[in-house]
Amino acid sequence: MESCIFCKIIKGEIPAAKVYDGSKFIAFLDISPANKGHTLIIPKRHYVSLEEMPDGDGKEFGELQVKLGKAVMKATNAEGFNLLLNNGKAAGQEVMHAHIHIQPRFSSDDFHYKWTHKKYDDGEMQRMQEKIKQFL
Ligand code: 5GP
Ligand code: ZN
Repeated sequence: MESCIFCKIIKGEIPAAKVYDGSKFIAFLDISPANKGHTLIIPKRHYVSLEEMPDGDGKEFGELQVKLGKAVMKATNAEGFNLLLNNGKAAGQEVMHAHIHIQPRFSSDDFHYKWTHKKYDDGEMQRMQEKIKQFL
């Protein structure tokens, strides 16, 4: 993907503060961090969303989130971290090359996720439970 900013980072065409470089994924610091140390993990192969992730890559992706999450916490003395994956435009994805955010968190920081909590009608939660299970 010629115009993709993250593909350019992978190819070394634009600089990035890389913290991990493996065979399938790289990780680097987000240029506009929610808190300092905010890190992105991206696949080396260009795809937009997780639905396109090749079978078998999920294991390494999940392991990297834990490994890098711990490293970011130690490096920043964070008290916690959020993992955020905006999967698709409707979910707020702006860079259309799949990535997950590791956001170090402090009890005193100014950062928060907000959503309104919906309610299920009678029986609706069970129907949703069965529907999701069908697709696994
Ligand atoms: P999204 O909203 O797509 O989940 O997040 C994209 C993230 O990529 C943003 O947090 C943004 O700051 C980061 N970003 C965009 N362009 C660049 C860049 O050129 N270099 C780095 N290091 N991060 C970028
Ligand atoms: Zn790309």
